[in-house]
Amino acid sequence: DSSSGSSGFASKGSFPGRIPVAIGRKRLRIVVTGGAGFVGSHLVDKLISRGDEVIVIDNFFTGRKDNLVHLFGNPRFELIRHDVVDPILLEVDQIYHLACPASPVHYKYNPTNVMGTLSMLGLAKRVGARFLLTSTSEVYGDPLEHPQKETYWGNVNPIGERSCYDEGKRTAETLAVDYNRGADVEVRIARIFNTYGPRMCLDDGRVVSNFVAQAIRKQPMTVYGDGKQTRSFQYVSDLVDGLVALMEGEHVGPFNLGNPGEFTMLELAEVVKETIDSSATIEFRPNTADDPHKRKPDISKAKELLNWEPKISLREGLPLMVNDFRSRILEGDEGRGL
Ligand code: NAD
Ligand code: UDP
Repeated sequence: DSSSGSSGFASKGSFPGRIPVAIGRKRLRIVVTGGAGFVGSHLVDKLISRGDEVIVIDNFFTGRKDNLVHLFGNPRFELIRHDVVDPILLEVDQIYHLACPASPVHYKYNPTNVMGTLSMLGLAKRVGARFLLTSTSEVYGDPLEHPQKETYWGNVNPIGERSCYDEGKRTAETLAVDYNRGADVEVRIARIFNTYGPRMCLDDGRVVSNFVAQAIRKQPMTVYGDGKQTRSFQYVSDLVDGLVALMEGEHVGPFNLGNPGEFTMLELAEVVKETIDSSATIEFRPNTADDPHKRKPDISKAKELLNWEPKISLREGLPLMVNDFRSRILEGDEGRGL
């Protein structure tokens, strides 16, 4: 059984034919939904490199085969084109549930958060797998507490343009804790704050990818509103480390996973300018509805219970995504369906 030992890879599942990957633990079979996307593909790389088997489920709504092509041919890797809204039968030890259109441009069109989470929790229940939900800082809405702790219940508009996403994730959290309480499914909940890095979708409208792509294309960076709203930006490898620490730990959560370094959008534009092109300019545009005024995680809980904290500052992390963006822009990859 893969639950044994001090490795922390506790799981109720037990499948024949497991090959040890390290002293003290068996190789795990892990599903990553949304594994062809930005965060998912980095997570898959980490799980494969430590010796586990990974099955990616993705419908390529915003994800790309290009993000995983380096793993094609690896016998420990499988890719299934499937919409998580529909149930699927698999024998697995752990499920990282990331599938979800994660940018305002895309998420309005999709019921993935609720229906997809329900079907994947059903799978976890059936096979006794541990289930990790990637929730979001958006559950705090336009927060009246700053920085945000996990105990804060949030300030969310239930009928706004973003509601499908933030209320969808709030419902997903409810489903996860109810499956934990009512059906004894082992769940883990991460509340992810704004994350950036290589393989981000070029055209999904998030601020870091927009500014970086605009600066590379010599277009003005589009600052929405007065640019004084704040976000806290986390580099993707820090997030992936946090997700794995959470899955392997003993706590349900929720846990904030984010970098507490807080920037206004004008400050972010300045850092992008310093990093990419000192002649880059900005252009103001009207802001979107219900845009949170500020956001910054309190990560004391994750520090204490998961022994996790981010290591890479914005100034260190931004240059690490520039080469990837430059080459994709040169190749004319607009980020969808490849
Ligand atoms: P992404 O768009 O790059 O990845 C999402 C993946 O899910 C894509 O590969 C997409 O094709 C897939 N997908 C969408 N709907 C699906 C469906 N119905 N069935 C199967 N696959 C589906 O986004 P990301 O930034 O990698 O986000 C991953 C997760 O992390 C999401 O759940 C998101 O809500 C959460 N999150 C991300 C951030 C961030 O800043 N990146 C912040 C908070 C939360
Ligand atoms: N934003 C911006 N210019 C852009 C895209 C976004 O100024 O080209 C702003 C947006 O109004 C918001 C912040 O950047 O205040 C973060 O937006 P994003 O969509 O990246 O993430 P979220 O709002 O989900 O935190």
